[in-house]
Amino acid sequence: MDVLDIKALLITALIFVPIECLFGLRSGQKILRKAFFNDLIYAVFNGVPITLGLIAVVTLATSTVGRLVPVYIGRAVSSQPVWLQVIEIIVIADIGFYLAHRTFHAVPFLWRFHAIHHSIEELDWLAAHRVHPVDQALTKSASLVPVYLLGFSSPAIALFAFIFHAHGLLLHANVRLNIGPLRWLIASPQFHHWHHAHERAAHDKNFAGQLSFIDALFGTMYLPGKAVPERYGVDDPIPSTYVEQLAYPLIPKGKSNEAPATSDA
Ligand SMILES: [Zn+2]
Repeated sequence: MDVLDIKALLITALIFVPIECLFGLRSGQKILRKAFFNDLIYAVFNGVPITLGLIAVVTLATSTVGRLVPVYIGRAVSSQPVWLQVIEIIVIADIGFYLAHRTFHAVPFLWRFHAIHHSIEELDWLAAHRVHPVDQALTKSASLVPVYLLGFSSPAIALFAFIFHAHGLLLHANVRLNIGPLRWLIASPQFHHWHHAHERAAHDKNFAGQLSFIDALFGTMYLPGKAVPERYGVDDPIPSTYVEQLAYPLIPKGKSNEAPATSDA
């Protein structure tokens, strides 16, 4: 991670920490909570492997399948106004995100990667960074490969990436934010907090990253009034440190079961 990224992280903290203090959902939750430093390691180091993985998949896709896409499609797509391209990208990317995310929940081997993210027990903007790089690189690829294949312009993709990142941090933030009826269209913190809930009724619900209506279309939406979950996390024996968490999905099941059942992640 270079100096610029550290600066971006500091600016992000300067925006989100005051928001969480002013509009906190759980006012008793400390900023320096359990697993804070572990999540800080993710925020600092995880970007490089995720970006490299994403570049590898996108390069492979555009240099193979991409050759089959007629040139005029790319010209037509990239000649639209940037704001319109961004809206189209959000829809296309979130359908890809939804399908990849749901697959990571449904396939036991993939779930071991995604379980790292679900091991979060105290949600906040920093915890949003706790994602296994394999999980994140593949999910981002599912979102962005169709976008690159269709030929959206670089400024539109860059603007989308910024909005997606900011939205993702807000979804995990420890905030009470009422967006009214918009919550049936756009993913809200309440919507995503339920995705992390340690409650059976909320399991395998709310997979969308930005557009909650995709879950409504697929019948996987769970938004019980204004209620918020009692607690977050999973029963999987997730270890507590960054390196152990990176290794966890690759360790044969019998061995990982020897890990402590109570994680501080
Ligand atoms: Zn999930």
